[in-house]
Amino acid sequence: MKKRVFSGARPTGRQHIGNYLGAIQNYVALQDEYNCIYCIVDIHALTTLESTDRLQQDIHEMMLDWLAAGLDPKKSILFVQSHVPEVMELYTLLGMITPLGWLLRVPTFKEKARMQPQNVNYGLVGYPVLMTADIVLYKAEVVPVGEDQLPHLELAREIARRFNSLFGDTFPEPQAKLTPFPIVAGLNGAQKMGKSYNNVIELAATPEETKKLVMTAVTDPARKYRSDVGHPEVCNVFSLHRFFNTGQVDEIASRCRSADIGCVDCKGLLADGINKTLVPLRERRASFAARPEYVNEVLVDGAKRAKTIAKKTLAEVKEKMGLLLRGV
Ligand code: ADP
Repeated sequence: MKKRVFSGARPTGRQHIGNYLGAIQNYVALQDEYNCIYCIVDIHALTTLESTDRLQQDIHEMMLDWLAAGLDPKKSILFVQSHVPEVMELYTLLGMITPLGWLLRVPTFKEKARMQPQNVNYGLVGYPVLMTADIVLYKAEVVPVGEDQLPHLELAREIARRFNSLFGDTFPEPQAKLTPFPIVAGLNGAQKMGKSYNNVIELAATPEETKKLVMTAVTDPARKYRSDVGHPEVCNVFSLHRFFNTGQVDEIASRCRSADIGCVDCKGLLADGINKTLVPLRERRASFAARPEYVNEVLVDGAKRAKTIAKKTLAEVKEKMGLLLRGV
């Protein structure tokens, strides 16, 4: 039997090229070799949202990007986390075997607590436990994610190991699968590209918006004047040429190193490369956007299929934890 893949992403609305290069392109690539389950984790989103007014719209926008990128409901299960509530039961149970110290050490918890000091909620601490429940509920062995998720996955393995040692072998220890672009920097070059840092290029941006955004990107900090030679190996913009201008990478690098092209020229080439590469995705997105009822059908069907697997695992877990009446 094919191994199972699981990955989840928060409903952040329109996806950006960091999500695409770091995760979504792997989601798509793995569909033939594995049984894949991809989930929009709306409950995780509640740990950081100030308002839920846009939640349904964001889920819809995200699904449009996933489908446009090539996720295929005939090959993969695509669903929304809260539609399969078994995960919350497993989350509670795993919470009972997870030491608080493990969770308080997680770097993303510390960072989020710093970013939203007015809302350091209980769910924020439990975030990796819910993520573990997501993965192990489907007994997934492979988890395609960006590099920022590695500490969470390490914890998921520790929790799975602990469960197995306390209650007997039940869960595989999930392994991360990175893309060749495990971390895409934001346009300002300061942090990873991420919605919460306001430094993204959305896949669904228009060609004009894309160009305008690319032009704001920070490049090699040592290159102050047009006549200065550049250092592509430290340039944030250059790293994106490796994906969006594959055939011209060496030429762009050598023209940058000899100051034959300046950063503005280089950004122009990148914007053209992004726009050209994304033409088919953007066209497919527009056609799915015209059929909102289809997107809903995919999610309803996905939840049904995910639930069948989830119920089975949960029954096994409850039995192993001594929560079922015996002999009745
Ligand atoms: P965001 O950071 O925009 O809030 P999520 O945290 O929901 O996005 O991430 C969804 C998936 O995309 C995860 O697997 C994550 O590792 C990946 N990802 C997000 N941002 C980046 C990035 N800048 N570079 C590489 N992968 C990323």
